[in-house]
Amino acid sequence: MNQDTHFRECSVPAVGRVFVYLLQGNQHMNDQLEHQLERRKIKPTAMRLLVLDFFQQNDHAISLKDLENGLESTDRVTLFRTLKTFEEHKIIHSIDDGSGAVKYAMCGDNCECDYPKDAHVHFHCRVCNETQCLPKVKVPPIALPVNYLAEEANVVVKGVCAKCKP
Ligand SMILES: [Zn+2]
Ligand SMILES: [Zn+2]
Ligand SMILES: [Zn+2]
Repeated sequence: MNQDTHFRECSVPAVGRVFVYLLQGNQHMNDQLEHQLERRKIKPTAMRLLVLDFFQQNDHAISLKDLENGLESTDRVTLFRTLKTFEEHKIIHSIDDGSGAVKYAMCGDNCECDYPKDAHVHFHCRVCNETQCLPKVKVPPIALPVNYLAEEANVVVKGVCAKCKP
């Protein structure tokens, strides 16, 4: 990505901020983010780098509202579109944790969002109210009646997470 691309896209305040960050900040970090987008066939734009960086800085699932608050961006539509692009290209997957808001979390490097191969348990903590991926905890096979075809399974375990455990 060249610097002209950055310039053209910094009309949104949050993107202006990432522009400064990209110039002054850690070039290695920026390369790593760009590489991650490119290997999933997504063109790296300043907004996409900003959103990806936000995901990487959080170890829990993120709603559109979290993203809006975190990036202080008013451009909800662009953020939503970025989430949808990431989801289509398997950078992130969506989670229905029963909270009413769809949340999104990073996919693992080799995730194809396939059921059952990539299906893992999600954990919702009632203390911090965060939802996390538990990628090592696979969704256990569920025996369905004859002629039923499973395409996905949403398993959310609720309780107290390791950070909040007294
Ligand atoms: Zn995935
Ligand atoms: Zn917690
Ligand atoms: Zn997950």
